[in-house]
Amino acid sequence: SKDIKVALVTGGNRGIGYELVKQLALKGFKVILASRDPEMGHKAVQKLKESNLDVSFVVMDVDNQESIHQAAITVSERYGRVDILINNAGVYLEENKRLVAMDPSILERTMTTNFFGAYHVIRSFIPLMEKQGYGRIINVSSEYGAMSDMSYPGVGAYKLSKFALNGLTRMVAAEINGDIKINAVDPGWVRSDMGGPSASRTPKQAADSILWLATIGPEGPNGGFFRDGKRIDW
Ligand code: NDP
Repeated sequence: SKDIKVALVTGGNRGIGYELVKQLALKGFKVILASRDPEMGHKAVQKLKESNLDVSFVVMDVDNQESIHQAAITVSERYGRVDILINNAGVYLEENKRLVAMDPSILERTMTTNFFGAYHVIRSFIPLMEKQGYGRIINVSSEYGAMSDMSYPGVGAYKLSKFALNGLTRMVAAEINGDIKINAVDPGWVRSDMGGPSASRTPKQAADSILWLATIGPEGPNGGFFRDGKRIDW
């Protein structure tokens, strides 16, 4: 039916992304779990289907523009719409070195996934959203992305990638037409392969802190940066 909304989550095969897929499906969305690895993606979808959740799979490597483009075509053919887009895929490749001393490929690869990945995904899916006149885009950022706090030595590549992602969020927000909202969110420190076992939050808590942005109304925020529903400094 026209009322069933379609949501897509990048990097949905594990960690925060997997939990986002699960929670969106529990809320009644048709969810597309995007993963760069078909085997891991299908496995994750299978697990969710066993709990009777409405989840399907699309392959998408956000480092690869052609892969993103093909995924957008597949989604368009399969559903004809996408209402919620969550740019969650990300990497943390730091070696605890200064930005000017690190292997430059660390910075390049981090920017490729965390910044350009989100950029190309947004670029490929926004035409569909503008056609339907509706869309909610969430960029999973980080407190490291705040330029107002430079007290994180040794994480320069990651910080710069999330800072750029935050900038992208604001700039795209100012450009889009129709009832489309794009916001950035810091999920906190979360137990996942990236966050490690000592992190303070569960993926479920992280998903809850993110997903309110998926259902904001036409008067809701656009171009903001949030943690736990509150605006935080850029
Ligand atoms: P994980 O490392 O557990 O998972 C990362 C996910 O991103 C995996 O599904 C991975 O796929 C996917 N991914 C990485 N590169 C690509 C790519 N090129 N194309 C497609 N998918 C890709 O991390 P988290 O779940 O913890 O992190 C999710 C997001 O949350 C990230 O953007 C991260 O920066 C952010 N975040 C996390 C925090 C934390 O404490 N955990 C804190 C603040 C922000 P694959 O399995 O194929 O590698």
